[in-house]
Amino acid sequence: MKILVCVKQVPDTTDIKWTENNTMQREGVESILNPYDAYAIDEAVKLKEFAGISVITMGPLQAKEILRYAISLGCDEGVLLSDKKFAGADTYATGKTLATAIKSKFSDFDLILCGQFAIDGDTAQTGPSIAAQLDIPQVTFVKKLERCDGKSIYAVRETEDGLETVKVEFPALICMLKGDFDPKRPKINGIKKAQFADIKVLSAYDIGLETAGIKASPTYVSKAFRPEHDRGECTYCNDVKDFAQKIREYANE
Ligand code: FAD
Repeated sequence: MKILVCVKQVPDTTDIKWTENNTMQREGVESILNPYDAYAIDEAVKLKEFAGISVITMGPLQAKEILRYAISLGCDEGVLLSDKKFAGADTYATGKTLATAIKSKFSDFDLILCGQFAIDGDTAQTGPSIAAQLDIPQVTFVKKLERCDGKSIYAVRETEDGLETVKVEFPALICMLKGDFDPKRPKINGIKKAQFADIKVLSAYDIGLETAGIKASPTYVSKAFRPEHDRGECTYCNDVKDFAQKIREYANE
């Protein structure tokens, strides 16, 4: 069985900086593995006994770091899609590039795992876009995976009304939420393996994609701005009783 995990390198949002144009400053900011992707890797590694695990990202050369981190967690190989042509990709073009790479280099996959959201872009569109472009079923908002028999898997989804379990046949794509646990940390053997791992770098030409990046992106950003908050007057409470009283007064106004 073959599993492919899509991961994204994101700026550490505990240290967000903004440019003069109110866009996120990516240069000189520490980058981390998108936290949702850590849960996708965790679920993949739980199936390692039965599955080979590849991990893929589209990004600049520095994104090799997170592929090595993924290998240190138990993934077998890392593939980086990197090319100047990919710059300026919106979610559609990102999904298309990843789907094209998957068709050309990983056509024998059974299961693709993505994070539900990336903590910087936060659109939650990339996973569904890949699934749509590969024409395979997708299960989103998944908290955990259960009972894999090599041909199908049960995914426990979070919905507005609680949890529901869905069975999906392979090939399929699943978008993972954060689980109710801390994802595993690398062990010393994993770190050693990752240090010497050969990360494959593929260009647009290598995956047979002619138009990519901004040229393949239908999205146009007309304006970016930080919302202004008007919180009005601030009232301080002395203790919980005072707080409860003020809420009552506010409700009766
Ligand atoms: P989500 O859809 O929220 O991510 C969900 C999951 O999808 C992730 O957990 C991960 O599993 C997977 N995923 C997401 N991105 C990747 C990836 N790159 N590789 C592998 N898996 C992934 N961003 C730039 O970095 N540089 C740019 O020049 C740039 N230009 C842009 C121009 C426009 C017009 C627009 C609209 C966006 C641009 N972006 C750029 C942002 C970029 O499009 C998004 O970061 C990207 O499409 C992923 O969307 P998201 O961050 O909302 O991820």
